[in-house]
Amino acid sequence: MAKRDYYDILGVNRDAADEDIKKAYRKLAMKFHPDRNPDNPKAEEHFKEVKEAYEILSDSDKRAAYDQYGHAGVDPQAGMGAAGAGGFSDAFGGIFDEIFGGRRGGGGRSNVYRGADLRYNLEISLEQAAFGTETKIRIPTMEVCEACHGSGAKAGTQPKTCPTCQGSGQVRLQQGFFSIQQTCPKCHGTGRYIADPCGVCHGAGRVKQHKTLAVKIPAGVDEGDRIRLSGEGEHGINGGPAGDLYVQIHLKPHAVFQREQNDLHCEMPISFTTAALGGEIDIPTLDGAAKIRVPAETQSGKVFRLRGKGIKGVRSNAHGDLLCHVVVETPVHLTERQKELLRELEDSSRDNAGHHNPRAKSWMDRVRDFFAAT
Ligand SMILES: [Zn+2]
Ligand SMILES: [Zn+2]
Repeated sequence: MAKRDYYDILGVNRDAADEDIKKAYRKLAMKFHPDRNPDNPKAEEHFKEVKEAYEILSDSDKRAAYDQYGHAGVDPQAGMGAAGAGGFSDAFGGIFDEIFGGRRGGGGRSNVYRGADLRYNLEISLEQAAFGTETKIRIPTMEVCEACHGSGAKAGTQPKTCPTCQGSGQVRLQQGFFSIQQTCPKCHGTGRYIADPCGVCHGAGRVKQHKTLAVKIPAGVDEGDRIRLSGEGEHGINGGPAGDLYVQIHLKPHAVFQREQNDLHCEMPISFTTAALGGEIDIPTLDGAAKIRVPAETQSGKVFRLRGKGIKGVRSNAHGDLLCHVVVETPVHLTERQKELLRELEDSSRDNAGHHNPRAKSWMDRVRDFFAAT
C-alpha cells in the first residue's frame, strides 16, 4: 500500500518549523486518539499514521532523510533504512561498527524506547466492586515544559547541534585499522548541546506535574484485578510510545459481607428462641433486605445459601451466592423471671437430656468411647 506523504498527513508545509509540526501533531492525535474513538478502526488507523508521521518529522535526522529520500529513507521495511532507526545516513555509517558491536539499532538520539508501565493502587468498596463505578485518580506525570516547549533551552535560544559529534550522538575513535564508535561524552548521545538551559526544567525539557484521569471500574472486579489505561504510563524516550498505567484494585473490608470469589458470606445471629421454634428473619443483601425462613431446631453454624445473591464477576456470566452462617446467641442481661423460666425449661428436659440435645449426646458418647479405649 502506498504511504501518504508525512507532511500531508500532518497538514503542514515542507518548511514547517518544529513547533508547528508538534502543534499539528497534538491536534490530530487528540482528535483520533483511540480513547476518544472507541471501536472506530478508521480513527485508529489515522492515529497510527499521524503518530508515525510525527515520529519522523519531529526528529531532525529522520526528517532530513525523509526530505531527501522519501519513505525509503526512513522506513525500516524499505531496505536501506533497515540499518537502524537512525535512518538513511546510518546505512553508510561504516560496516565495521556493525561487526565490532560498536552499537546496535542505531545510535544517539535515534534510540527509541517505550516508556515504563506504571501501577496505581486503588481502594474501592465492595458495593463499588459489585456494581462498577467511575472514579478519578490523580497521578504524577512528566509533562512538556511550557517555558521552553520541551527543548530544554532557555526561552529565545535553541539547543545547538553538539559540536563534538556533529549531532550524531556518537564519536568515532580510530584504533589502528578499525574505527570504534562510542556514545558522545559531551552530549551523552543526545546529539544536542544546550548552552543556556531553561531555568524551569533545568534543561530536561519536561517538568513534574499531576494529571487527573477518569477510570471506569467494571462491575464485578475483585481484589488484585488490574485495569489498563493504555498510553498513560511514563513517556517514551526519543518519541517512543508511552507505557501503560495499571490501576490495581483493592477492596476495603466490608462491615457485613466477606467476599470469596463471587460468593458473599455473612454471619447471621439468631436468638435462642428463634433457633428452637423457627421464625422469619431479615437478612441484608447487596440489593436490599431479604427474608429467610429459619426452620425450627436450627443449630448454630448452619449455612443458608441464597442463590444468585452474590456478585456477578467480570469474567463470569452468572451471579455468585450469598451464604448466611447462623450463630445462635446465648441470651444475656436476663431478669430473675427469665432465669426462672430457663431453669424450668432445664428441669423439664433433665429426664431426657439426650433427646433434646442431640449434639451434646453424641459428643458425650464419643468422649466415653475415647476413655474406654485408653
Ligand atoms: Zn524548560
Ligand atoms: Zn555530542
